[in-house]
Amino acid sequence: MESEGMILSSNIYNDFHLNPIGMGTNAVGNPSNNPISDEESQHMIVKALELGVNFFDTAYFYGFGHSEEVLGEVLKKTNARHKVLIATKGAHRREGTDIIVDNDPKFLEEEVYKSLKRLQTDYIDIYYIHFPDDKTPKYESVGALHRLREKGIIREIGVSNFTLEQTEEANKDGHLDVVQDEYNLLSREKEEKFIPYLRKRDIGFIPYYPLASGLLTGKYTKDTEIPEKRRKNPNFTTKYLENLRKIETLKQLAREKECQVYQLVLAWYLETDFIDAIIPGAKNVNQIIENQKAKEVTLTRNEFEEINALFR
Ligand code: NAP
Repeated sequence: MESEGMILSSNIYNDFHLNPIGMGTNAVGNPSNNPISDEESQHMIVKALELGVNFFDTAYFYGFGHSEEVLGEVLKKTNARHKVLIATKGAHRREGTDIIVDNDPKFLEEEVYKSLKRLQTDYIDIYYIHFPDDKTPKYESVGALHRLREKGIIREIGVSNFTLEQTEEANKDGHLDVVQDEYNLLSREKEEKFIPYLRKRDIGFIPYYPLASGLLTGKYTKDTEIPEKRRKNPNFTTKYLENLRKIETLKQLAREKECQVYQLVLAWYLETDFIDAIIPGAKNVNQIIENQKAKEVTLTRNEFEEINALFR
């Protein structure tokens, strides 16, 4: 993992040591998605800080600003803002009950200022365009973020859920620093063309869904009732039994190494050279504690390759 080379490309981060296991906060302050109280969300962030987590990934879309608010509140109370990196994202506009994806440069600029307020900060370490729209030239959207970077308001510019072509367009002027996209042991298509493109240009990569939304934790069995919102996801349907068989093999290795499957999986990402940091999500304090322990798991070259081959 080349954490301090890519994502932390700027000199301002010289004294900063990134904990490569950050915290994904799409379950925080997002009651429509997950029934977690603000109090529990705050506990999770406080515990994460105590454990040395210094990279938080949020977005306007998570609770329509409330995830940012909860994070901002805790960082303020604990006086931790300057000890952590905050990544947030924007591109969603609410119009009545509709949610519209918008990459208009002026709109994105306004969204950045709103995020600053909710996060109670005067700068954002990484600002991602959360999703592409189908009308704005992507270099114009990135251009707006670049101007904010020149003012010191944003430190790194990212895109998320962009195709390779859209990423190339976004990076036309070379302003892109980091990409966040779906990637995990069960979804490795990006390795073919996308990752080589990023690596060639020193653009960082942060995968989302590192635990495949919980499937790669090892807690699912053939009898598990699949949560409603996963029932259209092939990993939980058509590929489910095949995935479980692979995870069964991981369980054996985890037993031998006296760790948990999710720790083995996260440790594998930590050894993967094109991944800059990981941001597993959590729904309770215990998951935060358990996921941080992945740093204690070391994989031999053979073990790394064994897992690699299993999920090829
Ligand atoms: P994930 O990290 O693959 O899975 C997280 C889920 O797995 C948790 O919510 C929890 O769900 C379960 N889990 C985590 N640790 C566990 C443990 N130790 N033991 C048992 N279960 C555990 O998926 P994600 O949270 O959706 O994605 C990670 C982060 O990426 C998000 O929080 C968000 O910041 C970001 N993200 C970005 C985008 C984007 O469009 N850019 C999209 C999705 C996510 P259960 O308890 O319900 O099983």
